[in-house]
Amino acid sequence: MAKKPLRCRLGWHRWGPQHDENGERYLGCVRCHKRTEPGMRTRIAA
Ligand SMILES: [Zn+2]
Repeated sequence: MAKKPLRCRLGWHRWGPQHDENGERYLGCVRCHKRTEPGMRTRIAA
């Protein structure tokens, strides 16, 4: 398993459009691929 980036371990994820193995698109972290949860505050980096 890949090591989780330090910033992600600190909870500083970089959110952006992601897609899972089924091709389903979702908003998640571009580094660790964590999905956002309902109500989660996200700042989308351009
Ligand atoms: Zn992350």
